[in-house]
Amino acid sequence: MRQVVLKHPVDHKPRADDFQIVDTDRPACRDGGVVVKLSHVSMDPYVGARLRGRHMGEPAPRPGEEAIPGHGVGVVVESRSDALKDGDAVHLMEAGWRDYAAADAGAVRTISTDAIAPQAYLGVLGMPGLTAWAGMTQLAKVKEGETVLIDAAAGAVGGTAGQIARARGAARVVGIAGGAQKCALVTGTYGFDACIDYRAPGWEAALKDALGDGIDVHFENVSSDILNLALTRMKPYGRAILCGLAAHYQTGQPAPGINFGPIIGARASLHGLVVYDFYDRWDAFTGEIAPFVRAGEITIAEDIAAGLNAAPGAFERLMDGHNRGKALIAL
Ligand code: NDP
Repeated sequence: MRQVVLKHPVDHKPRADDFQIVDTDRPACRDGGVVVKLSHVSMDPYVGARLRGRHMGEPAPRPGEEAIPGHGVGVVVESRSDALKDGDAVHLMEAGWRDYAAADAGAVRTISTDAIAPQAYLGVLGMPGLTAWAGMTQLAKVKEGETVLIDAAAGAVGGTAGQIARARGAARVVGIAGGAQKCALVTGTYGFDACIDYRAPGWEAALKDALGDGIDVHFENVSSDILNLALTRMKPYGRAILCGLAAHYQTGQPAPGINFGPIIGARASLHGLVVYDFYDRWDAFTGEIAPFVRAGEITIAEDIAAGLNAAPGAFERLMDGHNRGKALIAL
């Protein structure tokens, strides 16, 4: 089988030529485990930091040896577990960018592909969707009638967060995204009420107008200066979810300091979010959101690289913020 590995250790923003594709043996099936033929693997922003050993204390993959980490979906082709059989459609976290992965049965979730594409379990029903659900429903506890602001709104986390807020009865959902095409996706496909292109002239005034009398829930994915602007618009007892630092993963620079004055003034709360804390609520998340996905009421665009050969270039696009929707590799 083939897998994507690092050519050498990286200590910079990963580029396509930091990777290579190598042939290797298909992994053996362990007692109590399965081998899965992967149909899709995920590309996520955190992997840029992980490749440098700078993500949640997890080590970088060994160059030339270990596949680039990523969640995956596929079909069981060999089983030595009573819990799973050949042909079962599954999701696994420790898949990696490769053709086949071996895992213990306990580390694999079966997925329903009844009117749901398997790769949805890497995006809207996967780790990014769980992140969005955890922030909106478990931490911010968005309520009917509220106004919500989300940046990186064209991505899997931001786009899902807005649609979940709407499903929970939010009155107004406003996105921020880079460029007219991303904003068209956010309003056209995801159904946000407005999307502000922060690269367009006059965007600050447009944002102020779009927010009306202020923000009840702010969902932060980028942590640029826009965060402080958003915090000045919080309504009394508003909640802000600090989810991501997309503007800072590659620079090594800390995010700008938070201006605490407006938070005190609004009696607002800030919640840090780490999706790992919510893995034990994955069934509650899919139980709530899968019916919306099946009905076509919550959807996320997919930015699909065709085959492992295309993965390095597609990952470079993700690192540059040029992906539109969930970045995936189809095998
Ligand atoms: P996205 O597909 O949304 O990609 C990140 C987006 O960030 C880019 O497309 C870009 O959108 C924006 N961005 C702004 N500045 C930069 C920059 N300098 N370099 C690159 N991108 C930039 O990713 P996801 O939906 O997968 O994730 C969204 C955020 O959620 C990320 O920060 C991610 O790390 C975080 N996350 C956090 C988790 C947690 O447990 N806290 C779990 C999962 C994800 P635009 O052009 O619109 O600005």
